[in-house]
Amino acid sequence: MIPYGRQDVTEEDIVAVEAVLRSDFLTQGPVVPNFEAAVAARVRAARGIAANSATSCLHIACTALGLGAGDWLWTVPTTFVASANCALYCGARVDFVDIDPVTLTMCPVHLAKKLEVAERAGCLPKVIVPVHLCGLPSDMRRIGALARRYGVRVIEDASHAVGAVSQGQPVGACSHSDVTVFSFHPVKIVTTGEGGMAMTQNESLADQMAMLRSHGITRDPGRMSDQTNGSWYYEQVMLGWNYRMTDMSAALGLSQLERLDDYIAQRHVIAERYEWLLDGLPLRRPHRVAGVRSAFHLFVVQLEDAARRREAFDALRNAGVGVNVHYIPVHLHPFYRERGFAPGDFPVAESYYASALSLPIHPRLTEAEQDHVAASLRHALVS
Ligand SMILES: *Cc1c(COP(=O)(O)O)cnc(C)c1O
Repeated sequence: MIPYGRQDVTEEDIVAVEAVLRSDFLTQGPVVPNFEAAVAARVRAARGIAANSATSCLHIACTALGLGAGDWLWTVPTTFVASANCALYCGARVDFVDIDPVTLTMCPVHLAKKLEVAERAGCLPKVIVPVHLCGLPSDMRRIGALARRYGVRVIEDASHAVGAVSQGQPVGACSHSDVTVFSFHPVKIVTTGEGGMAMTQNESLADQMAMLRSHGITRDPGRMSDQTNGSWYYEQVMLGWNYRMTDMSAALGLSQLERLDDYIAQRHVIAERYEWLLDGLPLRRPHRVAGVRSAFHLFVVQLEDAARRREAFDALRNAGVGVNVHYIPVHLHPFYRERGFAPGDFPVAESYYASALSLPIHPRLTEAEQDHVAASLRHALVS
């Protein structure tokens, strides 16, 4: 089966991880801060806080922004469930903003209307979480402007988008947000096995998130209430969790990061080749936005005849092509339906979902494999 996404692990990566295994520290050593500094420099953020997953990063980011009981978090329905679940971890409530049918990211027009209504009703969200689906950055200029106008905080879920660039700014620079979260799961652009990082320009948010990922503990005398103790001393000053990244993971990430440009370039080569191979088929190819360079984490096509999606999916799987569907709208999962959502609530996300098919894209995908994917899809759609 040709997978839709796959990690690329080199000899250099293995040597880097092995060096940690032979060192004094497996976790909380020197490599995690090196990895944080390298990612921060790369995306022009002041700070990066590494954790054991993007899900953990979303949780500590929401907590550091003060999200709590009685608050609302808004995200898009077209995402992985983690973008919404982080609100519930904090005791807050979730609502959704429908996507734009062309870019497939949070629709600024829907957002503006929903904010206007919420303001009148006195229930503005505390946090919104736009998601850079497939690696294409959301329209952060407009979303950020709306957030500033209504006093709403913004976390970019950039799990798909490390390496993407928008209007000259790397995703992660937080030009229009408080925090940007990356995922380093093996199907994503670069991997640490499991892992994520929360980027920010705000030092105090970064310090808070760093404490929250490790039990809410500090060793910084400036943050303690009692400073009369010895150098063994630390204080717990808030309630946190154990969300730490290991040094093995960070070493893998640091080594992978050196190939980020190559990975994005290779994903663009594959995407452009797909556009050429799929020419003339009854489907919509990914949208390009002027001034925006996608990370192409996913290559999603939308079939013109949604009724044939299932048949096309099965035909491709039978031909050894590991197609997938990203994503089942979050509000349609039983857990969210039990919380009051229903089919029809977010029609753009639902109609996108009905027609979407993710084709394999990863740096090691060969031309022959890609030809096989395209030929199998052509056969499924025009026979
Ligand atoms: C993968 C993903 C996450 C979660 O990432 P983990 O590192 O697995 O926790 C969150 N949001 C989106 C959009 C994702 O694709």
